Amino acid sequence: MKSSTNPTDIARETLKQLAVRRVPPTPDHYEAIFHEIAGTAEAERLHPALREILAALDQRSQSSPEGQRQLGQLRKLAQTEQWPELPELLFRCVQTSSAQGALSRAWAELIRDLIRQWDLRNPVYTPSRKQASLEKVLINFGNNSDELNDKLASLVKAWAEGDTGGDIGGLIEAADAPAIGAEAVATAATAETAVSHGSWANALSSTLTIGLQARLSHNPELQQEAASLATEAATVSDDAGFEKLLPRLRKFWLRLELQNDQEMRLCDGLMNLLRLLTDNMAEIVIEDEWVRGQIAVVQSIMAQPLDMRVIYDAESGLKEVLFKQSQLKHSLVEAQAALKEMLASFIDRLGVMSQSTDRYHDRISSYAERIEKANDLSSIRDVMEGLLQDTRSMQLDVQRSRDELQEARQRADDAHQRVQELENELSELSSRVREDQLTGALNRRGMEEAMETEMARSQRTGSPLALALLDIDNFKKLNDSRGHGAGDEALRHLVGVIKAIVRPMDSVARYGGEEFVLIMPETDSAAAVAAMQRVQRELTRRFFLHNNEKLLITFSAGVTEIQPGDSTQAALERADHAMYMAKKAGKNRVETYTPPQF
Ligand code: GH3
Ligand code: MG
Ligand code: MG
Repeated sequence: MKSSTNPTDIARETLKQLAVRRVPPTPDHYEAIFHEIAGTAEAERLHPALREILAALDQRSQSSPEGQRQLGQLRKLAQTEQWPELPELLFRCVQTSSAQGALSRAWAELIRDLIRQWDLRNPVYTPSRKQASLEKVLINFGNNSDELNDKLASLVKAWAEGDTGGDIGGLIEAADAPAIGAEAVATAATAETAVSHGSWANALSSTLTIGLQARLSHNPELQQEAASLATEAATVSDDAGFEKLLPRLRKFWLRLELQNDQEMRLCDGLMNLLRLLTDNMAEIVIEDEWVRGQIAVVQSIMAQPLDMRVIYDAESGLKEVLFKQSQLKHSLVEAQAALKEMLASFIDRLGVMSQSTDRYHDRISSYAERIEKANDLSSIRDVMEGLLQDTRSMQLDVQRSRDELQEARQRADDAHQRVQELENELSELSSRVREDQLTGALNRRGMEEAMETEMARSQRTGSPLALALLDIDNFKKLNDSRGHGAGDEALRHLVGVIKAIVRPMDSVARYGGEEFVLIMPETDSAAAVAAMQRVQRELTRRFFLHNNEKLLITFSAGVTEIQPGDSTQAALERADHAMYMAKKAGKNRVETYTPPQF
């Protein structure tokens, strides 16, 4: 069969083929063979009207994957001539493409308008008011694109109309809103009720779910009630709905209050129990310095308001100490066992020695008897020989026993010394509980102990004692810009510099997050200021290096001198006041506070 471009030729050939193939001459068959002979492409074989429709749909749904998918299906139906299914799909295609087209046009225009109105100066809608209302619209309608589109359009319109329009959906508080026309008032009021009901219901539902449900895992019954109330609250859309929900809510609050009360009492009870236990233990273990150290940590935690950070710090400190103690205790038990063994062999030796001296004692008595009875020289000589021999072996026995005893004693002494060393090591470990784990400075407990000691010494000797409280400047900024890890490194660096500059007799303690206390014995206020300034100078020389970048750490400090009859708390408050003055005066400086003399 030859192909031709002349329609008359093609028509003639088509009729011929219908006859040759003995195909019934229906219009469909004629059309199919006609295209075959003409070599028409698949897409071209469709009816021109259908072709136009498909092309138009293609144009409109280009940015929509869903539209493109439906169009593909439509093409397939047309090509396979499944006409009965075609109309339904065609309608869907048209709907998708028109919704898509209308919406995207509206979004594009809307965003353009929004940007234009945002940038325009408006005496009524200041930038902060615009921001507030935009945020509210986004929060309230962000999960429904149609509604969001609608509300944003109203918002932009309100901005464009300036002082003649109202805020969208009552999203700006009435007091803040400009005078609005009667029509706008009516629309705004209706919208406001709807919005406020919707948003209150959502807020209540979220509070119940996020705020309460998650915290009630220990009480499944209340947890379930919170979940069910949250579900119901989310569906409330009017006053009547709220009225209906209220009794259940009230009942729930009451049960919650009761539960809370019980939990508080449980917590108090547990704290009292712990206090009783630690007080008792502290009284019983007088000798074991390391146990006392750990009890003191728990006691000091209980003495202040419960703070998770303090508890975590103490926990990690105790864990470290406990781990090392368990290792040391093992060696201690071994050393004690060795000591016991030595003592046992010592006693054994003594027993053997006394037994052999008893034996010799008996033999000497028998020699004495024999000498008494002896009446000739030869029997005396026999006795003498026996006696000499026994004396010699006795001498050897004694010598050997003495050597062995000395050796046992030496080993017992060694074991005893080892036990003592281990015990000292344990005590020293316990004192580490007084240290801040991050920086190695004293922690609050260590600081209080050091203050107590130094205040007593200062009172005894009459020498001055100064206290400085320093707070790193703009530390939050460092944390925010370089990360918390860098902040921690900076704290360690600062303590390193302070320790290198102050005298060994001075103590440095971490008072809070980025606040440190320096206790300086035999130092008056002026000398303490000079010492703090030396630390400041040293910090400008020894930069803090973070990722090879030199960072300057500065601090503000307050200095005070301890007064007769002073308390640590009062002195700290004065130093804190002076430190605050230093911050106020521009930071990176040292101020003093001298209490008024009476
Ligand atoms: P100012 O100059 O007024 O003192 O400002 P500041 O930023 O230093 O003061 P602010 O008290 O606002 O911030 C202290 C910051 O110290 C907040 C907290 O995140 C941080 N911080 C507290 N403890 C630690 C810690 O152990 N490590 C780290 N990296 N940061 C801490
Ligand atoms: Mg601070
Ligand atoms: Mg600070």
